[in-house]
Amino acid sequence: MARRTKIIATIGPSSSDPTVLRRMIDAGMDVARIGLAHGSLSEAIERYRLIRQVAAESGRVVGTLVDLPGPKVRLGRFDESGVDLVPGSTIQLCPGDGPSSATTLSVDYESLLVDVHPGDVLQIGDGAARMRIVSVDGDAAKAEITHGGRVRGRPGLHVPSDRLRLATPTAEDLYKLDAFVDEGVDMVAVSFVRSAHDIRRIGTEPSPRGPLIVAKIETRSAVENLAGIIEVSGAIMVARGDLGMEMGIEDLPHLQKRIIRDCIAFGRPVITATQMLESMITAPAPTRAEVSDVANAIFDGSSAVMLSAETAASSDPVNAVATMARISERADAEFDYAGWAQRVRTIREGAAGDGASQITDAMTGAAARSASELGATAIIGISESGFTVRSIARFRPQMPILGFSPNERTVRQLSLSWGTTPLAAPPAADSLQMMDSLVVAARDQGYVRSGDLVAVLAGAGSSGIRNSTDLLRLVRVP
Ligand code: PEP
Repeated sequence: MARRTKIIATIGPSSSDPTVLRRMIDAGMDVARIGLAHGSLSEAIERYRLIRQVAAESGRVVGTLVDLPGPKVRLGRFDESGVDLVPGSTIQLCPGDGPSSATTLSVDYESLLVDVHPGDVLQIGDGAARMRIVSVDGDAAKAEITHGGRVRGRPGLHVPSDRLRLATPTAEDLYKLDAFVDEGVDMVAVSFVRSAHDIRRIGTEPSPRGPLIVAKIETRSAVENLAGIIEVSGAIMVARGDLGMEMGIEDLPHLQKRIIRDCIAFGRPVITATQMLESMITAPAPTRAEVSDVANAIFDGSSAVMLSAETAASSDPVNAVATMARISERADAEFDYAGWAQRVRTIREGAAGDGASQITDAMTGAAARSASELGATAIIGISESGFTVRSIARFRPQMPILGFSPNERTVRQLSLSWGTTPLAAPPAADSLQMMDSLVVAARDQGYVRSGDLVAVLAGAGSSGIRNSTDLLRLVRVP
């Protein structure tokens, strides 16, 4: 069975090269992610254009995702060789943009002394060191290092998000977003989201006219406001790095399952991210625990799994993608497809929905069920916005989903959709004609053969409701 789970790879210094990118695409990269936390905007745009050019030359559909950093607080730079923060020692935190040392941390957040309180626990990097605030005076806060470690460069400082008065998206996020919207980026991830309102403030055109908005779940408030955030977002990322600092690390596996479950209920793609193959930043093979983590994220129902520094700043980004592809393909083969379809129906029972989503639910469920009962070769989903195809994918049908759209950006956005082969559809006069011609196109492109049975699903607007999927046909391929 071909791989169904999608792979997102972050592009950074070790992968910003046409040959490496081409090999990453060949190894299975479905979506290329550009983090905007480091480097200049012009460098990021140059990287984006390179990805688009290499993807076009490869002839494969590769989606692009830019990740807005949000209100990330950073420390001033440490010495080149790094600094040891010793457990039990006392350290000062001062707002400002100077360097940091073993005794004083410079913090690039001017309201720090107003927002933090004695007793707050702050973490450096992805948990490399931890401190407890002891007191806050006129121009500095005093903290005790509770867990020491070596810190270098300009690490992030994790301040509990309910303390921060900084809003997401920041003015800088919106400035960078504008530049990437002009470039035609396919997807945008928003960091440190706290509520649906943060997503609405992004203000881009609804997809596919604008990018698909991916809400990163990494704050306590986002977990509390999950349903509202999912409803207004195009997709969700379980951002385990910051989420693990914000909540108890022991809560992470359970939060991951809960977030994925809620995304499935709403038919939104869900990405599991961070430290999936972390040891491959330097090693040629992952740990046993990492392999199990990726497979279990797939069994939980992830649509996509993500690589961060494993491909952005590592010794062998191509090997990281190829390894992720092998683990995913194997887990996809072991996936409990029959049990899943039953589970999704249970998850959906009792879920509120408007007319359009109820019709789409019923139709996509019927397509997946009938295709499976009749042993159909493929499900062909035809969709302007990708809504129908994403809705089918959540049922995890065993046969391939061919996701056709006349909209070029929708095709690239479908690179994130589980089990979906994104395909461009030529415009047609009406839905029935389009269904006929796309069955023939699927045959001509080698996805199905004459005599195969296929399920074809489209929105014809005959229900009178926009954005609903109301036409299902089961046809023999001519
Ligand atoms: C995360 O925190 O897990 C994450 C994906 O965000 P970033 O890589 O921007 O820290």
